[in-house]
Amino acid sequence: MTTVNGLRKFKDAQDYREHFVIQEQIDKYLPGGRHFVDGALIETLLAKARSAPPDPSRIREIIARSEETRATLPPEDAAALLQVDDPDLLEEMRAAADRIKRAVYDNRIVVFAPLYMSNLCVNGCTYCGFREGNSSQKRRVLSMDELKEEVDVLAGKIGHKRVIAVYGEHPSTSTEYIAETIRTVYGHACKAPKTGAPAGIRRVNVNAAPLPVEDLRVLHDVGIGTFQVFQETYHRPTYEKLHPAWSVKGNYDWRTTCFHRCMEAGVDDVGLGALFGLYDWQYEVLALVMHARDLERWFGIGPHTISFPRLEPASGTRVPEESPYLIDDATFRRILVATRLAVPYTGMIVTCRERPESRNACLEAGMTQLDASSNIAIKGYSDSAKISDQEKSRQQFMLADNRSLEEVVRYMASRGIITSFCTAGYRCGRTGGCIMDALKTGREGKFCKINAVLTFREWLDDFASPETVAMCEPLLKSELAGIEKWLPKFYPTVLKQYEATCKGSRDLFF
Ligand code: SAM
Ligand code: SF4
Repeated sequence: MTTVNGLRKFKDAQDYREHFVIQEQIDKYLPGGRHFVDGALIETLLAKARSAPPDPSRIREIIARSEETRATLPPEDAAALLQVDDPDLLEEMRAAADRIKRAVYDNRIVVFAPLYMSNLCVNGCTYCGFREGNSSQKRRVLSMDELKEEVDVLAGKIGHKRVIAVYGEHPSTSTEYIAETIRTVYGHACKAPKTGAPAGIRRVNVNAAPLPVEDLRVLHDVGIGTFQVFQETYHRPTYEKLHPAWSVKGNYDWRTTCFHRCMEAGVDDVGLGALFGLYDWQYEVLALVMHARDLERWFGIGPHTISFPRLEPASGTRVPEESPYLIDDATFRRILVATRLAVPYTGMIVTCRERPESRNACLEAGMTQLDASSNIAIKGYSDSAKISDQEKSRQQFMLADNRSLEEVVRYMASRGIITSFCTAGYRCGRTGGCIMDALKTGREGKFCKINAVLTFREWLDDFASPETVAMCEPLLKSELAGIEKWLPKFYPTVLKQYEATCKGSRDLFF
């Protein structure tokens, strides 16, 4: 290992495995060796909550408090919510989750696409197609020219404005590489097919392995959006079984303290997640709540988003089929509803791992973001015609929702939901603590509504078919009428920006 410009460089995978984790950067956030995800407490809370049927009046009191304060619930309240299986009470919880989502984020869903940069990996996660030693995987790392071709499709043909860049963990995809890919994506301009207007990616979120503080500062400086790391499972014994001790990822504490380091480095939009199906879902939800609360305790800032990946089949492993903890769609929706009530202000992401029916059912269960037109092969967007079915079956895992962005937009419009391409938040400094306050008071929802209208108008004019435009016009009109009623004094300013967008101005936002 050497250090160049303040960043450590590793000579090979073994050097990386031996030296990557920095113990002091773990210990700092686990004072006295106590972990903020208290496994024993989770077991006790769940045992107590499971010992008697939930009392409906207590559940209603918890729901009311969540709606009123929009503050993260104590774990014992979350444990109570997780026990509800009476259909009527569950429906009350779902309706409340939907009201909270609308109050905080309005009736819009933000869309994005995954952009896979590399599948080289030094780890051995037993459920993942990218794990080291899986010989069915053709390994590659995107070059910057190849990356530009991917952006040409994502931003220039489909019309995405927001991506989540995904990386395996490997010295060949070091922080320098991640930073270069982010700069390349931001810097690559395209032209919209219908109007020739400038198009491009405006927010790059990252899903990568945990990093040390110094590396996170570099990503902060190149303008990263959210830094996502899924914990997979918070249950330490299961985690250790699924992630071999010889791997970097085998270090549970390095992974769980990653967001504390993010905050220290100024990356204050962080994305939590658990891979549902690896362990008891109720355990995972309580651990997510504890994780959110610890971040709030240290930094006054909770998770910008929580993701809900569900275990999918992957090449060369039977773990996804054979896990005893797989969940059905109804349970998946319960997880979303309980999380919306337990962490009311957070963004909630459901990915194309879900089948369309399952994702559609999440639209009114607290979800705020989804991906569409997704392809998770490396160079999958620009080479899609060249990728054989056999190769597709060797991806990291199998996607279940293959709908195009346009299909998703139309489906959501048919349910009165506006698709938002808004990326204004972090560009206006509305991140971290600032956005937390705005979300809790509902102030952000107002910006969201206006920015959703402006960016949706852009996308319809630049990328959509005439049928889709015709179908979505009434929705835009009713959104504008809603803004006029809601913010009468500000409405003329909004209308001016809307009209400018109709005439071809781009990237106007509040
Ligand atoms: N390599 C980094 C890591 O593991 O943190 C980041 C990227 S990894 C490619 C992204 C996520 O994919 C993982 O965190 C995991 O939750 C998810 N994943 C892996 N295997 C999966 C499977 N079989 N089904 C669904 N999701 C899976
Ligand atoms: Fe590597 Fe991430 Fe897959 Fe684990 S989940 S094998 S770390 S790419």
